[in-house]
Amino acid sequence: MTNTQIIKGKVKTVFTTSEPDKVLIQYEDRVTAGNGKKELWKEGKGKVCMDISALLFKELEKHRIKTHYLDTFPERIMSCRKVDIIPIEFVVRNVAAGSIVRETTLEKGRLFNWPLVEYYLKDDEKDDPLLTRDRINLMGYSEELDLITHISREVNAVLKGIFRKIGITLVDFKLEFGYDSEKNILLADELSPDGMRLWKEGTQESFDKDLFRKDKGDILVAYKEILSKLEHLCN
Ligand code: C5P
Repeated sequence: MTNTQIIKGKVKTVFTTSEPDKVLIQYEDRVTAGNGKKELWKEGKGKVCMDISALLFKELEKHRIKTHYLDTFPERIMSCRKVDIIPIEFVVRNVAAGSIVRETTLEKGRLFNWPLVEYYLKDDEKDDPLLTRDRINLMGYSEELDLITHISREVNAVLKGIFRKIGITLVDFKLEFGYDSEKNILLADELSPDGMRLWKEGTQESFDKDLFRKDKGDILVAYKEILSKLEHLCN
């Protein structure tokens, strides 16, 4: 089988396969922050992110949330349904942290009783700016916006529950969605501490990429701890 590289992302590479509806996604050992301005190679990081993603995709599927996930293989490779990615990043926030603290008067740690779902343009060259509903309507995604917002809240409810059981607060996370060949909306991309904020319950101690962003610790140690707790809970 010859695989052709179709997209080389910052931390993942997508390959086509002989089956038109299937792709292989290789999780790289690279860590980036600040839209690629800061980077690090960390052996083993790709596999941990892939394993956490696979486990969480499987849990979401059990709750009837449709995802692109199919299987995992050696060499950090995940097989997935091929989707056309919607160029909007859906960020769900349960607790104030990161950009919402920098860009508003909200204090870090403020709890949201009604989780926020925010929309950002998926475009590194434009630095992923925050979008408005009107802008999304003009971009031509008005019809799917409410449905995907609803799915994002469902994903949040499931993931929040899982993390609570391992003593972790799911602070916020980013989701991406795409259309498969039958126009189903599937949850895509990855679900790992690279795209989430995870705090030890009752504290603001990070087990996610903030450790790297702020030079506060070894992400591999933290990610492995999350994976091992999730495996213990779910397998
Ligand atoms: O930067 P900000 O605070 O808006 O990020 C919110 C959440 O979304 C964080 O968990 C962050 O890791 C994730 N995110 C991401 N990729 C982006 C933007 C945000 O994974 N391009």
